[in-house]
Amino acid sequence: MTANLLDFDLEGLAAFCAELGEKRFRATQLFRWIHQKGARDFGQMTDLAKSLREKLEGNARIEGLPLISQHESADGTIKWLFDVGDGNAVESVFIPEEDRGTLCISSQAGCAVGCRFCSTGHQGFSRNLATGEITAQLWFAEHFLREHLKTGSDRVISNVVMMGMGEPLQNYAALVPALKTMLDDHGYGLSRRRVTVSTSGVVPMIDRLSEDCPVALAVSLHAPKDELRDKLVPLNRKYPIAELLDACNRYLVHAPRDFITFEYCMLDGVNDLPELARELAHLLQRGVSCKLNLIPFNPFPASGLVRSPQQRVQAFAKILSDAGIVTTVRKTRGDDIDAACGQLAGDVQDRTRVDRRIAQQRTVMLKAVPADSTKEA
Ligand code: SF4
Repeated sequence: MTANLLDFDLEGLAAFCAELGEKRFRATQLFRWIHQKGARDFGQMTDLAKSLREKLEGNARIEGLPLISQHESADGTIKWLFDVGDGNAVESVFIPEEDRGTLCISSQAGCAVGCRFCSTGHQGFSRNLATGEITAQLWFAEHFLREHLKTGSDRVISNVVMMGMGEPLQNYAALVPALKTMLDDHGYGLSRRRVTVSTSGVVPMIDRLSEDCPVALAVSLHAPKDELRDKLVPLNRKYPIAELLDACNRYLVHAPRDFITFEYCMLDGVNDLPELARELAHLLQRGVSCKLNLIPFNPFPASGLVRSPQQRVQAFAKILSDAGIVTTVRKTRGDDIDAACGQLAGDVQDRTRVDRRIAQQRTVMLKAVPADSTKEA
């Protein structure tokens, strides 16, 4: 079996080249051919010695992910569905904006965390992606977009967010080399602050990431108190809010002048009440340098949840802003192609009966919400 070179960061590729008896600068050349020029076969690499190209032909390959489908939204958002084998598929989404191009990448096929408001969570977990399968999403998108958009620019994607399918910190060993390739000047050359790992709060791995590759961190918070967060983000039972915020503070020691982005999905009558906004303000005022991003929920049938009315989102945001918390409301993008947050791979089959478990949680949660809490704030 030949090695897929997309599985390597530059260090890994240097070690692979050393095994072939090649010097480090050859690995750098090879890395630039793959990631900066989008080369797919060794014959294109005209500045590599013929003998090296022959060695590579026998020992290595550059293998992306088979594309199943591509959908382009009226707002320019593009969603790709990739085949990762055994009936599994993952998605990547490109979101163009005036001053940036953001690619949202998946880290797992499915997800084991099972957040109540997330359609990926409802499908259950199939498997971790390999480093090459994570990197391949960026490799494909960057070189496709250069060709498709014909910008003449040598870089189309300026930001990467690990916010597609999966909990990236539950696939840590594969994640870190992919992040390093994104940051490497010989790879995609993205700045540390333009690569974001979004986590539901895997505390020990937040600590490891702070030491190994302290990129920007986004944390899915969604509730200001454990009782409610336990129901929305089941991982909270293992790593409750106080431990999570402590980990965020430790993370910022390794990423000075950064801030944590807290994500908060607005669910009608569940977590969008004014008293919860005040509790959240109180919680966030206690020291973590942060921004709060309120996300309109993208409803899907199995969730039994409803998007908060715009008016209530604004009222919630105002309470936070008045308390001095920098608060934004995320614009929804790609709604017409189901590319919005929490809608990725919405038509992939449920493999683990997780829907049934979530339906049971829903019953418990709805009982816990006060009867008058569904009224307009
Ligand atoms: S929100 Fe993220 S962590 Fe939660 S189920 Fe969805 S993919 Fe997994």
